[in-house]
Amino acid sequence: MLKHLGTIIATMLLAAAPASAQSKLNVVTATEDLASIAREVGGDRVTVEAIARGYQDPHFVEAKPSFILKLQKADLLIVVGRELEIGWLPPLVQQSRNQKIQPGANGYLDASLNATILEIPTGQVTRAMGDVHPQGNPHYWLDPENGKRVAKSIADKFAELRPNDKAFFDQHLADFTSRLDTAEKRWLSQMAPYKGTKIVTYHRSFPNFAERFALDIVGYVEPRPGIPPTPQHTLDLINEMKRQNIKLILVEPYFDSKTPNAIARETGATVLTMPPSVGGTKEVTDYFKLFDYDINLIVDAIKKSGAGK
Ligand SMILES: [Zn+2]
Repeated sequence: MLKHLGTIIATMLLAAAPASAQSKLNVVTATEDLASIAREVGGDRVTVEAIARGYQDPHFVEAKPSFILKLQKADLLIVVGRELEIGWLPPLVQQSRNQKIQPGANGYLDASLNATILEIPTGQVTRAMGDVHPQGNPHYWLDPENGKRVAKSIADKFAELRPNDKAFFDQHLADFTSRLDTAEKRWLSQMAPYKGTKIVTYHRSFPNFAERFALDIVGYVEPRPGIPPTPQHTLDLINEMKRQNIKLILVEPYFDSKTPNAIARETGATVLTMPPSVGGTKEVTDYFKLFDYDINLIVDAIKKSGAGK
């Protein structure tokens, strides 16, 4: 009896142990969105930590010494790319002195490489103009189709770094993709009645989201990405919103709501605080919940405001 129990325990221990004797891959991501996708793909073969919190503006994150400690231990760093993190991440990566995760090394993955990027400038755009989107729109994760592409890039990178676990990562990728397909169908059907609803957003965070779910973004509270509102731009926006009868203003949680509220008073529009990232509000704990939350928020607001009519 005792011997039998011993065999059962030994079998359980074997089943729980990873197929390879290697330690878990230590993954650090720039944002919580990438962390959520990396956890889906990596399962129990990886540990994942994000640097920026979802309630922070990902363009402007305050550097902390603890970030460098995380980077020192990382086997892999995954970034959003398109210069989203250029204002804060490169000095941290450099100071970590971790050769594995320097740009161009095997342990550095730019998640934008296979994603569909919108708003790629055709003319000359430099950061000197103050525009924080000089390489196209970096908020591409807000389309679940891009979520699948990012997951594939991550799975391929995991397999490259841990070849023995390739089948495991491929299986987790397939499972994630299939659950995301199902969820996306549900989100699309929730949004279908409101196709073409005109909205205004604070920053250009939602073009991928709007394209996927058929919203029409007519203007922005910021005159250019990264440039705070000016009185003239605000006045022009109010006039345009009145002319087109626009009733919804989406504001990312990290922007001052003073100007959006003033615009709302003038136009009768509703201001919605809409998180563009996992961790943007406490209910949004993973990539699926991000769309669940945002789509419910918009659908409720459109119903109440009559903006969809
Ligand atoms: Zn941006």
